[in-house]
Amino acid sequence: MGIYEDLGARTIVNAKGPSTRVSGGLIAPEVTAAMREAAGHCVDMTELQAAASLVIADITGAEAGIVTAGAAAGLLLGTAACITGLDPGKMARLPDTSGMKNEVIMVRSQRNFYDHAVRTSGVRIVEVGLPDRVAGAGVRDAEPWEIAGAIGPATAAILYVAGGGSRPPLEDVARVAHAHHIPLIVDAAAQLPPVSNLRRFIAAGADLVAFSGGKAIGGPQGSGILCGSRDLIMSAILQNLDLDIAWDQWSPPPRLIDKNRLVGLPPHGIGRPCKVGKETIVGLLVALRRFVAESDQTRHDRGFALVNRIAPAAGSLRNARGEVREGGTPKFVVTLERGAKLTGMELVIALQNGEPSIHADPSQAAAGVVSFSPVCLREGDPELIGKRLRELLS
Ligand SMILES: *Cc1c(COP(=O)(O)O)cnc(C)c1O
Repeated sequence: MGIYEDLGARTIVNAKGPSTRVSGGLIAPEVTAAMREAAGHCVDMTELQAAASLVIADITGAEAGIVTAGAAAGLLLGTAACITGLDPGKMARLPDTSGMKNEVIMVRSQRNFYDHAVRTSGVRIVEVGLPDRVAGAGVRDAEPWEIAGAIGPATAAILYVAGGGSRPPLEDVARVAHAHHIPLIVDAAAQLPPVSNLRRFIAAGADLVAFSGGKAIGGPQGSGILCGSRDLIMSAILQNLDLDIAWDQWSPPPRLIDKNRLVGLPPHGIGRPCKVGKETIVGLLVALRRFVAESDQTRHDRGFALVNRIAPAAGSLRNARGEVREGGTPKFVVTLERGAKLTGMELVIALQNGEPSIHADPSQAAAGVVSFSPVCLREGDPELIGKRLRELLS
């Protein structure tokens, strides 16, 4: 099997989809070929990011953009940019934010483990709203006026986590942010496809948007995109790049970094640990171009064909129902009924511990529902999944 066997690491059937824990997705040969070519040359990293900015701006509609080490890295860099602006002294002091704007406003129902990346910059998160719809006790969530009420002299940014159920609507939050001249950062890490979402959040008024490159885009697992306003992207890249160079020697491309607007050269910034390699930048850009070149319908049909092969291989299951669901990314869904041999979580674990190890989506396992995504399946995987389901449930 090659390199993984050689290292003693098992490969898995990834029916969870492109999640970080299960190594993101599969990288297309065209992308790995570009990464191999990139690896065979050296470049000036600032020039490469400036080239990336043109591609990303063209595809997202933003003024500028950079390739980051993932969406979470983009959140850290974007927050840092909102705090420091173009002041190298402030960049040098992070994560010590004393005397700076050091609060980021978030709707309470949008809090999640990835906002650790935002807090890493040295800010405190100010939560807004009481999401009683989440408790099942009511219908309401945070409202735009509550966000406006939380804005004060220390507000560095508003962070909005995009998702199907996010409230209030992004447009309303953008209106509040702009009325108070506060930058709005959107975490859109997993909001692709549809391809149109690459432009949607910028169009709705976001000042910065972070996407994951290792999820649906199909780029290197450790890649992402941060796009947005020219000044914020300039600040973000300054806090990410290695700046081990003398001021006089330094001549960054002005369309990404306008040297004339800086009083001096910042030190290595808070984002320097989130370094991005040349092969990652090239791989992400090639993957991004492939992603936008394929229509949502073609992508859907490819996934639909794959998940439709699971049921015939599974045959008839006892006290369990398997069906293909469309609506967004198609998936194969197994619903365990009364009398089924296993509970949802037992099925997830049995699949994971089997040979080959199959990773399903466990998010609804407690309700007896286990689903299988086509996004990261290889040829032959649908049949392997069906066979294991037959062994475990028939
Ligand atoms: C996956 C995810 C992230 C992190 O993205 P990486 O590219 O893995 O850094 C952040 N926010 C949300 C909502 C995500 O789903």
